[in-house]
Amino acid sequence: MYTVTPVGGAPGGEAFLITTPEKTALVDSGFAFSAPQTAANIERALGRRPLDMILLTHTHYDHASGSVCVKERWPGAEIVAGTYAARVFKRPGARETIRKMNRAAAAERGISWDDPAMPEKLRVDREVREGDVIDMGSVKFTVFETPGHTKCSICFYSEEERLLLSNETLGILVPEKDIVYPSFLVSYVDSIASLRKVMTHPVEHILFPHVGLLEGQVIRGFFPQALFWFEKTKDAVCGAYLTGARGDDLIAVMERMFYDENALLLYPRAAFLLNASYMVPMLIRECLGIEGFDLPHEVRE
Ligand SMILES: [Zn+2]
Repeated sequence: MYTVTPVGGAPGGEAFLITTPEKTALVDSGFAFSAPQTAANIERALGRRPLDMILLTHTHYDHASGSVCVKERWPGAEIVAGTYAARVFKRPGARETIRKMNRAAAAERGISWDDPAMPEKLRVDREVREGDVIDMGSVKFTVFETPGHTKCSICFYSEEERLLLSNETLGILVPEKDIVYPSFLVSYVDSIASLRKVMTHPVEHILFPHVGLLEGQVIRGFFPQALFWFEKTKDAVCGAYLTGARGDDLIAVMERMFYDENALLLYPRAAFLLNASYMVPMLIRECLGIEGFDLPHEVRE
């Protein structure tokens, strides 16, 4: 038995509190700049209970950077993330990017934010790998390493509850559109392998990052549908490249498939275009075997 409560401090910086009768855990932690609001939401949802764990699916700023503020509020909460994530947090370049992205996302929302001391406080208390168990008393989660969105992406699976705490490697279901958004930023091949691994397990409830807990009819057939959209994206991008499309024309292929008013809810347009600028060259390298093709990775206004 468990409950899931959305506690994110700002749209785009979603976080979810999962509680069992014995334990409490935050799943992802949202932005750093909205973390005080996230902490207030957690406090309201917890009542008198302590926060036992902070589970991070990956190190992106919109998922992981709120953990610093939450840890300050609940020093006893153990921050759990993959071994690769712990390495990312130690890199000065990655830390600085996490700070800058927060500053930019806050500015987009008309908020002036900066905290030069935040990045060095990014930490992992417990590094986990494939098969490790997160014990929440009556509910136990097994860690699945699922690289593809990032190298550090992990998800958490409870067999008894048939519950998957998913991450962006496995795609994001948009139920109204019957579409799964792919987000394989670092590897298409790894994403397919991650999906195929997870889909061998029975899943009836999925906590999607940025979206929330979906269950029942809407997620029936999710995994085959995700595979379908991943392959469709690969075929469309590679097909366009082979018929001579370059530059923005390749980005436009993805935009036509995925970017509409529903996407806007998940992604600011600038973030969608930036992500596409990584996904397209990666597809051409991995799936066509063509080295040396790249696109500019600029943040467009
Ligand atoms: Zn991410």
